Amino acid sequence: MSGGSRGRIGPGRPLVSDAVRSDRTTELVARDLRHVWHPFTAHSAWPDDEPLVVDRAAGMHFWDTDGNRYLDGVSSLWLTVHGHGVPEIDEAVRAQLGRLDHATFLGLTHEPGIELAERLLATAPAGLTRVFYAGDGSSAVEAAIKMAFQASAQRPGGGPARPYYLHVAEGYHGDTLGAVSVGGIELFHATYRPLLLETRMVSSPGVRTAGQTPAARAAEVLSEMRALLEAEGEQVCAVVIEPLVQAAGGMLTHDRSFVSGVRQLCDEFGALMVVDEVATGLGRTGRMWAVDHCGVTPDLMTCGKGLTGGYLPLSAVLAREEVYDAFLGAPSEARTFFHGHSYTANPLCCAAALANLALMEQRCTVAHAARVGDRLGELLQSVEEYDGVREIRRIGTMTGIEVASVGDRTGFAVCQAARRRGVWVRPLGDVVVLMPPLAIGDEDLQTLCGVVEASIREVVQ
Ligand SMILES: *Cc1c(COP(=O)(O)O)cnc(C)c1O
Repeated sequence: MSGGSRGRIGPGRPLVSDAVRSDRTTELVARDLRHVWHPFTAHSAWPDDEPLVVDRAAGMHFWDTDGNRYLDGVSSLWLTVHGHGVPEIDEAVRAQLGRLDHATFLGLTHEPGIELAERLLATAPAGLTRVFYAGDGSSAVEAAIKMAFQASAQRPGGGPARPYYLHVAEGYHGDTLGAVSVGGIELFHATYRPLLLETRMVSSPGVRTAGQTPAARAAEVLSEMRALLEAEGEQVCAVVIEPLVQAAGGMLTHDRSFVSGVRQLCDEFGALMVVDEVATGLGRTGRMWAVDHCGVTPDLMTCGKGLTGGYLPLSAVLAREEVYDAFLGAPSEARTFFHGHSYTANPLCCAAALANLALMEQRCTVAHAARVGDRLGELLQSVEEYDGVREIRRIGTMTGIEVASVGDRTGFAVCQAARRRGVWVRPLGDVVVLMPPLAIGDEDLQTLCGVVEASIREVVQ
């Protein structure tokens, strides 16, 4: 991109005027476009979307390199908890830097890793007793599904290993191949189908026919699952679900009876229940964990995204003692979980996570998140009544506003309109996602909802 394209980029309405798009921004964008490859980004279209260069962040906002301020309406893609630049988390990371930057967790241990395991388990459903660290959500899911398979191969009483996973259409568990194998979003996953593990997939409990109740839909998918398990249950090592909200699938919500029903089927057919709380965990649904709404303890539970408050990459698999026990035995028996990463349990990440959890407890962040969720429901009432809106789906703070399609990228156009008004949100197709930092205050929440409403009215007429 040449300097000549400064300011006025692409068709349609310019986002910012020539006057405010600085040389620094123009230059950074040009350098980015020359060498950088971004995740989930359609690079042929992106230059015309006027890439936004983030310069700094504080609280609920970030600023671009031209000094424009944006409200972070999606928690920097579902991560931020207390906001950006939280003094307590900053300080915890700094203190950790002064003591220990990193040490391998392969055969060594350290205090932040030990303490975080204790703290996490103290928040988790009773029965989860072990923590295995990973780096991001995908790698936690990858570890969990490998654990489930190996645990089936090494279960007491023996029997052949169970090679299949049972999972749900419209599910999303990350982008590594194992995680993609248990996913169910055509747009993201179909390309890789020839490479993937063999699995069995049921329909989504979040996709209902007109007039069908969530409970009826849950029962329908559970009986689909039962039929598969009756036919091939001996071959299924784990059932993998996102509890209550299939987030990347478009904030598809389902009835809690689905989650408890999966627990019963897993017990009946001897499969492990793997619950992926990477998006729903750490308070997003208005409870610490989505499974807390359902009274269910899974066998393996993943978390990530909000774990470090949105600061650093860290995820974890929480496991029941029975699963862990399947990996015990003399070293010569090779029952070990031969899996790990260079940066497993990085102490800086653990320190950020510990500070995040301590603040969540002190500030009753989960209870606050529940109130934020209720407020979102109130503030979005007038949006829901608007003709251009098909449906609003929400559990706690996790919100999807499905707009009527009026062109190629309607959801995206709404988000660009919001950006012009100083609010940053990112869509999933024609679903405009709102997922504010849990600690958001009422004024910012009103701004978020007001701007999104105005943007929908502007684009969807
Ligand atoms: C985002 C997400 C993942 C993947 O996490 P990454 O940190 O992006 O690898 C896995 N599962 C769910 C439910 C997610 O929303």
